[in-house]
Amino acid sequence: LRYFDYNATTPLAPAARTAWLQAQEAHWFNPSSPYRQAAAVRVRYEAARESLAALLGLKGSAERVVFTSGATEANNMVLRHWARQLPSDARLGVNPTEHPSVMEAATAAFGERVCLLALLPDGRVDLEALDAQLQTGGLAALSVMAANNETGVIQPWQAIAQLCQRAQVPYHCDASQWLGKMPLSGLADCSYVSGCAHKFGGPKGVGFLLLPQAAQDCKLLYGGAQEGGQRAGTEDVAGVLAMLAALEASTPCAMPVLRDAFIEKVCSGIPNTRVVGVGADRLWNTVSLIMPQFQSVRWIRLLEKEGFLVSAGSACATGKSTGSPVLRALGIGAAAAGRALRISSGAETTAEDWDALAEAICRSYVRMRSEASASSS
Ligand code: PMP
Repeated sequence: LRYFDYNATTPLAPAARTAWLQAQEAHWFNPSSPYRQAAAVRVRYEAARESLAALLGLKGSAERVVFTSGATEANNMVLRHWARQLPSDARLGVNPTEHPSVMEAATAAFGERVCLLALLPDGRVDLEALDAQLQTGGLAALSVMAANNETGVIQPWQAIAQLCQRAQVPYHCDASQWLGKMPLSGLADCSYVSGCAHKFGGPKGVGFLLLPQAAQDCKLLYGGAQEGGQRAGTEDVAGVLAMLAALEASTPCAMPVLRDAFIEKVCSGIPNTRVVGVGADRLWNTVSLIMPQFQSVRWIRLLEKEGFLVSAGSACATGKSTGSPVLRALGIGAAAAGRALRISSGAETTAEDWDALAEAICRSYVRMRSEASASSS
């Protein structure tokens, strides 16, 4: 099977597996326990926090890193925290193509005070419009992801971080799909950053939230005083060490040539195929296609039979009957959104894999067309 759903999750990287197994064997003590073996685990765990902070450009500010169960939890923490800290009439700026863990949490916490940001036709946040809103003091906080999980569209998050610094507005960036794929520089300029290990070769159920230095009362889970009092619960030491190993082993690359050759092949083989986000910088590994005919599920089933695993939209949006909210926010109608295919590769994916997928898609199209004409005649 050739796997093309890396944006849903990645296989465990060998370095992460080794780190996880070693930690489970040698460092399984509760780091808060009162004996020497536990203290050694604490040292390893805090060293991992230092290393992660350094990778994110925050050398010496490890206290800004809180380990969580993933990006969903980290995103919820930020939005709940803002709802408690900001004035009761504060308006929150949110990119309309956020992951549900931001969008739903924002709506739950801010209701009508969520202000959806204007987008350019290619799916990027309109910086000029945003700047104007920030200048007039219309937004008390902002959440815009680094890169979209369905379309791969890269938001101008570095520029947004600068605008927010100037306007002294806290900025949260969900970097889940950025980490491990793109360089880490600049993330420290965002007040809050969330990420999760399983998108870059780490285990599922581990992630982190980067907080501003002075942030207080961010906690979602009440209980023990772990994570500087920001997140109760016994630390997942093995998960954190594996996450760090995976991030260290990831090789951010910005080589969209394979993706582009694939797009070229599919679009020339199947007329009227549309690529979502054209015009914007997009992640090198992600392609969102609107096929001219046939529902996503038919494509997915047929491609699976051919040995390729692809998806329609985000795994988190599966089961929503209205189609992908991300595609809908980009102005794509329900019918077209129902014909979307999301293809996302990983570092291991070869040119040959991409070629084979393009051919399988073209073949599947011919097959479904001939089945359709046979059944109508
Ligand atoms: N944000 C984005 C952009 C994502 O792609 C995902 C994963 N679907 C999440 C948040 C949620 O992450 P987790 O699986 O760690 O809860």
